[in-house]
Amino acid sequence: MNVMTYRDSGMFTQLRDSMIPFLESWVEKRGKKFRFMEVCGTHTVSFSKTGIRELLTPFVDLISGPGCPVCVTDQSDMDHMIAYAREKDIIIASFGDMIKVPGSVSTLSREREEGADVRIVYSASGAVEIARQNRDKIIVMLGIGFETTAPGIALAIHQAHREKCKNFYVYSAHKMTPPAVQEIIRDQEHEIDGFLLPGHVSVIIGRQGWRFLEGKRPAVIGGFEPIDLLTSVYLLAKGIISEKMEVINYYPRFVKEEGNVRALEILHTTFQTSNARWRGFGEIPDSGFALASAYHSYDASKMLPVRLPKIKTIKGCRCGEIVKGKEKPSQCKLFAKVCTPDNPVGPCMVSSEGTCSTYYHYEKDAEMVNRK
Ligand code: SF4
Repeated sequence: MNVMTYRDSGMFTQLRDSMIPFLESWVEKRGKKFRFMEVCGTHTVSFSKTGIRELLTPFVDLISGPGCPVCVTDQSDMDHMIAYAREKDIIIASFGDMIKVPGSVSTLSREREEGADVRIVYSASGAVEIARQNRDKIIVMLGIGFETTAPGIALAIHQAHREKCKNFYVYSAHKMTPPAVQEIIRDQEHEIDGFLLPGHVSVIIGRQGWRFLEGKRPAVIGGFEPIDLLTSVYLLAKGIISEKMEVINYYPRFVKEEGNVRALEILHTTFQTSNARWRGFGEIPDSGFALASAYHSYDASKMLPVRLPKIKTIKGCRCGEIVKGKEKPSQCKLFAKVCTPDNPVGPCMVSSEGTCSTYYHYEKDAEMVNRK
């Protein structure tokens, strides 16, 4: 099937019409709704944008989990970058959204207004190019994201290494998704029935990267088109009903069992696993990508020590609970009043794939009703 098939409105209607009575009858038998977590910001947006979240609301609670890389980046990592931005010989290279994320005392965007050299790049190789053109400066690339973006940073490190670009550094705040899902399973309060796993991350790590879920929860690797979304939820519900705790690859047009072998090889040769701090979760063991010892000379956190401010949390912001899937945006008093996409207070409103931003754009009315 080509991608258009997954958007076919006739097929969608047929599926919806058979699925809704099925869900309805099972919710009645169980005496409660299904609770599924989507672990991907793109899924969060797709469910809301297509209206499928609203369609399924009477039968399924779709909980948004730690799937937005901007949102899960810890305050201490932002503090590090802001401290670098304040050094006069340092140029910061960052992907766009990150410059608006608040640290304890400032944002990269505010530092830029006050004279810091903060540049937005669209790829890590763009940061190497800046390093090449500014040999008298130090360039620090903020590496954020999951298994999907880390290979691009790894390639940039290799490029800098080949070109003997000694003024290029990476501050790696990259994270691995499976350990965060393991944390959610360990949390007894959570009661998540099943997981809709991130399609893009799964392209890299393959179905094999999620095998730890077998026997624990039903899980589906799903795509982002309307039929992908609906079918994934159907498969999760079927998994619960039949008590089959399997990991189903419902995205085989892009995801292989073994993942992207070449990307995994680059990841494993450039990085080593490390403990990482996640917003909301705190430190999760073996969930980060630190630079491997062969590349320590490119590691900003090792080579460029800076003084950090005392961590101050963002007053009133509930992002920490929202990325864990424990609260919804309506539970934050600032949502849509003080905090909006034009004036974001926390990272979940900064990123277009953040839960607060998504709910603001597509679910605001329902969220405001929930708040009353
Ligand atoms: Fe944080 Fe704004 Fe979301 Fe509240 S609405 S949790 S302040 S991002």
